Amino acid sequence: MKVSFKELGLVNTREMFAKAVKGGYAIPAFNFNNMEQLQAIIQAAAETKSPVILQVSKGARNYANQTLLRYMAQGAVEYAKELGWKKPQIVLHLDHGDSYELCKSCVDFGFSSVMIDASSLPYDENVKLTRKVVNYAHKYDVTVEAELGVLAGVEDEVSSAVSHYTKPEEVIDFVKKTKCDSLAISIGTSHGAYKFTPEQCTRDPQTGRLVPPPLAFDVLKAIEKKLPGFPIVLHGSSSVPQEYVDMCNKYGGQLPNAVGIPEEQLRKAAKSAVCKINIDSDSRLAMTAAVRKHLAENPSHFDPRQYLKPAREEMKKMYIHKIVNVLGSNGKAR
Ligand SMILES: [Zn+2]
Repeated sequence: MKVSFKELGLVNTREMFAKAVKGGYAIPAFNFNNMEQLQAIIQAAAETKSPVILQVSKGARNYANQTLLRYMAQGAVEYAKELGWKKPQIVLHLDHGDSYELCKSCVDFGFSSVMIDASSLPYDENVKLTRKVVNYAHKYDVTVEAELGVLAGVEDEVSSAVSHYTKPEEVIDFVKKTKCDSLAISIGTSHGAYKFTPEQCTRDPQTGRLVPPPLAFDVLKAIEKKLPGFPIVLHGSSSVPQEYVDMCNKYGGQLPNAVGIPEEQLRKAAKSAVCKINIDSDSRLAMTAAVRKHLAENPSHFDPRQYLKPAREEMKKMYIHKIVNVLGSNGKAR
């Protein structure tokens, strides 16, 4: 049985992206695959009155079950209202959809937004598949994110060893032919908690920490010039906060040389046509760091609520920080 996202109280991305591009901020897209993550995301969004995109990846579907995740998102809307957020703006988005069938099933199932990632295919096939998904999704007012260019890194089952920047000369033709609603581009961000090898980085002489190479803002600028006002998406945009990496390592973890995208670069991107920034690894790190610390300090604890509560608090703190200090989306969904 088909269900429209509108019946679930969800919204698509059209209006929020238009406002974000105009307003010079970006909407957070947080991945979720368990209850504590979802609670932390909704509490953070409700408290800051920030529109928010809940993303479901292939790994999340395999881990938590697509049906369960959809009903959790539906529950999240009601939970947000209970928290005093009168008009929650919550999107349920398929992250890295890899086939027409999958995108269609998500549209039919109440998702308000889907990504078709055909970026690994030859250009003409990417256009063709994206167009097919758009044709179906738009019938139900579901918005579609497409991708041009290839990101490096590993995200669930999406992985590539090398990145190829998006070619600015392709974007007008691609958007015109596919009629996609937003475009994920590759300008040097990367999936996962190991975005760059030490060889790709320099070292901060004072702290000895790895400093990643800067994003290709010239490519972003060239794309903006070709598509004025068109919503651009950045994947792989966790910052890999070093305090979480340190906390993990201090309490038994082994995460040597984990490195992400510096927040000042994301802040700069959020002010441009980039209106959706994907963050997943930072939530994993916050959760794991808090769990490791709690269990190390309280070896007698075995009730999951005892260590998941501080984990949830840490994630919420991190989400609020991103919303307020990096993306600037606070107060945009009152
Ligand atoms: Zn991604």
